[in-house]
Amino acid sequence: MKIDLKSISFNELQTIVAKLNLENYRAKQISQWIFQKNIANIDDITNISGDIRKKLGEIAYISCLTPEKTEFSRDGSKKFLFKTTDGYGFESVLIPEKNHFTLCISTQIGCPLRCRFCLTGKKGLARNLSVAEITNQVSCALRQNNFKEKLPNLVFMGMGEPLKNYENTVKSIKIFLSPWGFNFSHRKITVSTAGIIPRIKQIGQDLPVNMAVSLNAPNDKIRNFLMPVNKKFSIEDLIKTIKIFSIPSRKRITFEYILIKNVNDSPDNARELGKLLKGIPCKINLIPFNEHPALAFRMPEEKTITAFQSELHRQHFTAPIRRSKGSDISAACGQLGGKLND
Ligand code: SF4
Repeated sequence: MKIDLKSISFNELQTIVAKLNLENYRAKQISQWIFQKNIANIDDITNISGDIRKKLGEIAYISCLTPEKTEFSRDGSKKFLFKTTDGYGFESVLIPEKNHFTLCISTQIGCPLRCRFCLTGKKGLARNLSVAEITNQVSCALRQNNFKEKLPNLVFMGMGEPLKNYENTVKSIKIFLSPWGFNFSHRKITVSTAGIIPRIKQIGQDLPVNMAVSLNAPNDKIRNFLMPVNKKFSIEDLIKTIKIFSIPSRKRITFEYILIKNVNDSPDNARELGKLLKGIPCKINLIPFNEHPALAFRMPEEKTITAFQSELHRQHFTAPIRRSKGSDISAACGQLGGKLND
């Protein structure tokens, strides 16, 4: 079977180059063409001879992902709907910010964690995305948009729990970070997790990227209800793990807190949350729940949202209210449902 060059590390490419009896520097040349010049065909690597291209093409190819459909939000966000070769749908979202873009990418088709407020979770897991399916989401966004030399921020917050597809997530991030790959700065990449404790410990050591934790509750009772994963990894153990394994190698951590009407949005909840996170260098993103016909929860009223924020401010936390973009095309936080699967 031929090797997909979109799914291999620089070291693996060096091994291929050595097997073909080519000079070592060819690996760098080939890698830059694939990831930085974003080509989709070995024949497009024009600074290596036709002979070398032929040899490489006999054992390898470059995969490419083109959206089946692109949906455009009124606020400028774009949702790319992809279909895998085995027929599954998954999505990524490009979000315009004030001075840059953020690309929200997926790591799984569906999600095994089944958080109650999330459309992806409602459908369960179909399968993990491959390394190439993850890297190609970025290649596609780079091909279709003019970022004026400024790479977008990458957030692993699309469909799936990245730490439940650990090997492929880590390998794709290494390709994103490699100077011969996409050459992203580690400051531009954020991995979000619902709290897979053993993997949080591991990623803390494996990669320097930013971490976000989807917390959404100040205690086990509410979190068990919203996020079944909490029954396995309690909130107390989660916070302890973050303090020991995530904070030492990072300046601060981000907590995501989806505010849901009458579930986790009371002043008492805010006080308890502050107590839980006391002493942790962090930012708490408050995300008013994005309503969707398929989900029963509601967004709190404006005064409830600001009262929640004020309590956290009173306790000296940075707690911005983050309005998700793209809700008119079901591209907001928690709304990615793999539309092409329906
Ligand atoms: S919120 Fe994240 S972890 Fe929870 S079900 Fe949705 S995709 Fe999975």
